[in-house]
Amino acid sequence: MQGLMMDYPLTMERILEHANRLYPRKRITTVLPDGNVHRYTWADVHSRSKRLASALGGLGIEPGDRVGTFAWNNYQHLELYFAVPCSGAVCHTLNIRLSPDQLAYIIGHAEDKAIFVESTLLPRFEAVAARLSRCPRIVLFNGEPGIRTALSDTCCYEDLIAGGSDTFEWPVIGEDAAMGLCYTSGTTGEPRGALYSHRSMFLHTLGVNQSNAVGIVESDVVMPVVPQFHAMAWGLPYACAAAGAELVLPGPHLNPGALARTIAKEGVSIPAGVPTIWTGLYEELKVNPRDISCIRALIVGGAAMPRSLIEAYETELDVPVVHAWGMTELSPLGTVSRLQRHHRALPDADKWDVKARQGVPICGVDMRIVDDSGNEAPWDGRSMGEIQVRGPWVIESYYRQDPAPDHFTADGWFRTGDVGAMSPDGFLTITDRTRDLIKSGGEWISSVALENTLMGHPAVTEAAVIAVSDAKWTERPLAIAVRSPGAVPVTVEALRAHLASVYPKYWVPDKIVFVAQIPKTSVGKLDKKVIRRQYAEGQFD
Ligand code: AMP
Repeated sequence: MQGLMMDYPLTMERILEHANRLYPRKRITTVLPDGNVHRYTWADVHSRSKRLASALGGLGIEPGDRVGTFAWNNYQHLELYFAVPCSGAVCHTLNIRLSPDQLAYIIGHAEDKAIFVESTLLPRFEAVAARLSRCPRIVLFNGEPGIRTALSDTCCYEDLIAGGSDTFEWPVIGEDAAMGLCYTSGTTGEPRGALYSHRSMFLHTLGVNQSNAVGIVESDVVMPVVPQFHAMAWGLPYACAAAGAELVLPGPHLNPGALARTIAKEGVSIPAGVPTIWTGLYEELKVNPRDISCIRALIVGGAAMPRSLIEAYETELDVPVVHAWGMTELSPLGTVSRLQRHHRALPDADKWDVKARQGVPICGVDMRIVDDSGNEAPWDGRSMGEIQVRGPWVIESYYRQDPAPDHFTADGWFRTGDVGAMSPDGFLTITDRTRDLIKSGGEWISSVALENTLMGHPAVTEAAVIAVSDAKWTERPLAIAVRSPGAVPVTVEALRAHLASVYPKYWVPDKIVFVAQIPKTSVGKLDKKVIRRQYAEGQFD
């Protein structure tokens, strides 16, 4: 027997309409590139998003077309988060930190029809455009009047909005239509796209706002420090609209001093970012103390939050830390670590151990641990295996890629590539990654790509790159290399310059060590386990 309830499409326009109707005066604050502050309301987001959506047709954008964004966190980017999907197109956030070659590949793969570029990032984007076989339509915003560019097909965001209509009727969109696209780096091969649907993002929004998860409420002031170009800013803009909360968007001002000022001045109750950001903020506050008692939950994810930092925030600064795990492929939220009733009696030291775990799957995410022989591992806190997940906001296949068995199981689970264990009370602890990507300052660095480029140097025969822990960036790459016999001996500086000519600066290993040989597995692959052990034993010091 079928239920007799309405078939109500779960689309992003419902969330924006809700924010406009119920919370029209709640504020959105943006720190502009020049340091000034721009303030407006959810009602303004609504009317300007309608104008923008109505004007997209004039750019030749049709339902299903991909519309790129190349921007920091700001109110225009927020408008694009709503206007693009609510018009039926797909909001494709481009990671501004990738190299021009990587970005050119992604734009070509996504076939972006137009790209909205923040003017302060124009020089960076021009380097990308030079590599495109066909440059999409470019819309510039946040710039000085009369900004000059070599790009041919450009127009100005405010002109576009001025030509739109705020009485525009949203088109009817099916809940399964695509709404957003984010690429994530792979260990091997090219970056892969996670294509979210209206339904998946709507349900993810409700998931984020579960009280066991982030649980944003109307009285919150939320600051996503996590970039809007990374996993839809963890879905926080949508969760804020759904809850009627206020948003603070820090623009390009991500240094610890600026963040501390913004938190204190704007009364931020939920800031969210990667551990590197919170390491910097903690150090800043030790030197320049500020009243940050407005914070009720410091959300940290994207990489493991060190236990010592959790303890420092909780005991020295009296700031509650909420540690979460997720992936671009999960929209991104998967687990959240919050103390439960049975933890109350624990001594503080044990509480920090609980918080340092990645946490409990939120309702909507099924999780299992699968060992090397393909069997499900027990939740005993010790048995390790690959973390596999499924749920309504978990990826089913990558954009324009056949579902390969190394990402998806035959019985319908997504293979995260993370390795971990589950405790009997359902807390996930991540112990490793099956892939050897390096996560530095919240951004991926591919060890395989670095190795290939190092080995592409004529004076290097072999190279391996591993992640080593770093107090500031969580992880940094360390390279070991074998010099080619007979070649003119290459210096570390020359190799670093070689890498810097191909990759962004933050990819370049701080340390490159020359060795006589690199450990290999029985099948001749680089044995990273052994290399890591050698590093831990101080062999590369
Ligand atoms: P991304 O898709 O860029 O968000 O990266 C997802 C990956 O980041 C996961 O597969 C994990 O390897 C890592 N990650 C995310 N959150 C955490 C966390 N809290 N602790 C450890 N690793 C994490």
